[in-house]
Amino acid sequence: MKDIHTNLDNLTKKIAAAAKAAGRDPSGVKLIAVSKFQPVEAVEAARNAGQTCFGENRVQEAKGKYASLRAQHPSLELHLIGPLQTNKAEEAVKLFDVIQTLDRPRLAAALAAAMKKSGKTPRLYVEVNIGHEPQKSGVLPEDLDNFLKQCREDYGLKVEGLMCIPPFEDDPSPHFRHLKQLADRHHLKHISMGMSADFEQAIACGATEVRIGTAIFGERLTPIN
Ligand SMILES: *Cc1c(COP(=O)(O)O)cnc(C)c1O
Repeated sequence: MKDIHTNLDNLTKKIAAAAKAAGRDPSGVKLIAVSKFQPVEAVEAARNAGQTCFGENRVQEAKGKYASLRAQHPSLELHLIGPLQTNKAEEAVKLFDVIQTLDRPRLAAALAAAMKKSGKTPRLYVEVNIGHEPQKSGVLPEDLDNFLKQCREDYGLKVEGLMCIPPFEDDPSPHFRHLKQLADRHHLKHISMGMSADFEQAIACGATEVRIGTAIFGERLTPIN
């Protein structure tokens, strides 16, 4: 757990250096500590080291880990970064400050209904399937204009950012630049891209949020997917 503190310090330095190298203010890049498959003790260790923003992939897992932490620490910010099923929309709206994976009209409808019912208004980002990968979720880049319009006009949802996960085997930079262009075109200020292996490139391309797990917490107990 001591490593977590050191890893966070190192990462913070690397993020600042990458921002400066790109002529950007380091305060414009937020670190989201991705704690999926990590025990609550690891989250506590990160929090004790000063980390306030966390990301989780699954509603159920996040609820188990964060329900009491959230009550104790109101400044803690929690992002959902994994796919969301419509039947979990209500729980997600109650638990998360940011939902980064809005990607289809049915989910937009479910979130709109859940927000109305609970009075809670998490920030919403649209996930873009930037590499056109058939197995991946996300809106295709060419469908984004329409989808954003639909979110706004049909469901009254305010979308404030975009997120993407580029294809594993590609050079991520062209995909990151593409997401940045899409965000700029729609005046969306939150751009969530970059993970442990490629956050420096993402920052060079304009990321405002990087989602990092392994480089903070080490290898996960269970493989993802
Ligand atoms: C797991 C995950 C991350 C973090 O990945 P690392 O390689 O461990 O940094 C970031 N974003 C998403 C969507 C993830 O599922």
